[in-house]
Amino acid sequence: MLLRNGPLSRVQLKDHSGLSGAAITTVVAELIEDGLVEEQAIGASTGGRPPMLLAVNYSARTAVGFKLMERGLDAVLTDLSGEVRAHIRRDLPDTSPDTVVRTASSMTTELLQQCDVPADRLAGVGMGLSGVIDVGAGICVHSAYLRWRNVPIAMLLEQAIGVPVTIDNDVNAFAAAERLFGHGRHALHLAVVSVGRGIGSGLVANGRVYRGAHGGAGELGHTVTERRGRQCDCGKRGCLEAYASEPALVSRAQELAPELELTTIEALLNHAGDARIAALLDDAGERVGTALANLVNLFNPELIVIGGEGVRLGDVYFGSLRRALREHAFDGLAENLPVLLEPWGDDAWARGAASLAISRTFDLEVN
Ligand SMILES: [Zn+2]
Repeated sequence: MLLRNGPLSRVQLKDHSGLSGAAITTVVAELIEDGLVEEQAIGASTGGRPPMLLAVNYSARTAVGFKLMERGLDAVLTDLSGEVRAHIRRDLPDTSPDTVVRTASSMTTELLQQCDVPADRLAGVGMGLSGVIDVGAGICVHSAYLRWRNVPIAMLLEQAIGVPVTIDNDVNAFAAAERLFGHGRHALHLAVVSVGRGIGSGLVANGRVYRGAHGGAGELGHTVTERRGRQCDCGKRGCLEAYASEPALVSRAQELAPELELTTIEALLNHAGDARIAALLDDAGERVGTALANLVNLFNPELIVIGGEGVRLGDVYFGSLRRALREHAFDGLAENLPVLLEPWGDDAWARGAASLAISRTFDLEVN
């Protein structure tokens, strides 16, 4: 309640929670002893004891978050408010579970040393990875990028690091972070969309990340934008990701304008003034916007947050995305629907993963 509402007095906690005054006193005393809650004096005293508010002490513990990629590991150490205190990145010679666990374990030690944090202040570790994840069991069921099947990665990390480890699909981790600390704080129904290397979505329904029956909900990038269309990395054809992700844009640009020799997204954006490239960005944005309209029609979110490296794709892409979304959303569902572009830093994915550990610390039903 203190996390959600900000500082409250004991009386307010009692009123909001429905617990007895005695129960509040006991619970608060334990939390203060643990260092997780602190008292703050407010206003001037009118004689007698000054009124006290209780607040979460966000610096009482730390969390470490990892983003696991095909060639490296990104890691941050945060406090309990998700504020990043250090960020490091290491290359991975391979993505075998063994290598990942060994590297993550030594990076955790390095982060704790760098921030001068005793090991017993580490509340937990979170890891985000792309793929289908069984969050409850801590198993990566399948990841095409990592070529993993049924890897119990959370347990392996727990054995190596010695604190609770939570893993999740990286877009769901981003959604959990938005719900905890971001624009989604006050939204119960929220779609978080990532654009970049791939395209994905994390859905928050009734305040919790919605995963579906097998952890596969929100695979927006593999919804169909073109029947029998371009080949997708997933093995099927016509997926949105095969048209509108950054790698897809680069390969489409090479087909459209081979003489420009565009091999990276940065080079492509430098040629955004070229009519063919502008048309390509417009087309890709329209496809994502149309997919989002379908998502809105199925799910009726109150807010859409877009993040990922792809937020750099610029006004043509996102202008066209917004137009297509309004055009195809059913009967006013998109009329007062904020579509927010999140500024994206190198540490954003890992910070999302740290929030998995933080929500577990607070025992929040985000996940
Ligand atoms: Zn696909």
